[in-house]
Amino acid sequence: MTVRLEFCGDLVALLNRNGNNSKTPRLLYRTACTKDLIESQGVPHTEVGRITTGEGRECSFMYIPRFGETLHVWPHLPPVDVTRATLLFPDPLEVISFIVDVNVGRLAKLLRLAGFDTLYSPDWDDDRIAETAEAEGRIVLTRDRELLKRNAVRWGRLVRASDPWDQLGEVVSFFGLEERIELFSRCPKCNGILELVEKEEINDRLEPLTRLMYETFTRCPGCGQIYWRGSHHSRIREKLSASLKKTIFDRKG
Ligand SMILES: [Zn+2]
Repeated sequence: MTVRLEFCGDLVALLNRNGNNSKTPRLLYRTACTKDLIESQGVPHTEVGRITTGEGRECSFMYIPRFGETLHVWPHLPPVDVTRATLLFPDPLEVISFIVDVNVGRLAKLLRLAGFDTLYSPDWDDDRIAETAEAEGRIVLTRDRELLKRNAVRWGRLVRASDPWDQLGEVVSFFGLEERIELFSRCPKCNGILELVEKEEINDRLEPLTRLMYETFTRCPGCGQIYWRGSHHSRIREKLSASLKKTIFDRKG
């Protein structure tokens, strides 16, 4: 007697090899809650959008299938709204904020550049990331599946793209955050919210050319870094819009 798991859409690409088999469906000779069964096949629960029974009834991660039962495991259909409760994710987030694992570390700076509250330290281990995500209600971004399988990680994304700009496009499109982008509102170095500062106040800290060419400045209250609107701004805008156009999801699931 078996439980049959049918993985759909881009979840198939996440399946671990089971002997020579890297395909779906998976026949399991044991039963347990669906979270455990699904994750035993290599797919972290954060990547699952919906689970349905053979009769089309939706079930939660706590559901324990009967022997002989088939479950369909579906990916998320982006954009994923984390502020809305679903059967699989009953604890919605009030605000959108992230915590970034070291294996996608460069993404942290770009998310801050786009205005998103993002925690990151190259020194944090999985325990620290999972605990902080749970305590502060943050979305975990990583390429580490084991981190995403933890119960403490309620919202997360297994980042698929390898280029950091593509990763930014992937995350923004996946969570439907295009309208929430506030470019240059946050310090890429330390996550502080930038404040407008009078030029006279910082005049002595500016290079002569910068002093001559720019009038509007912001300062980070966290690390003291000063920013101004230079030619790099339009370059960053272009890279961002290019990365957003590039992100295409498999919606066939
Ligand atoms: Zn700063």
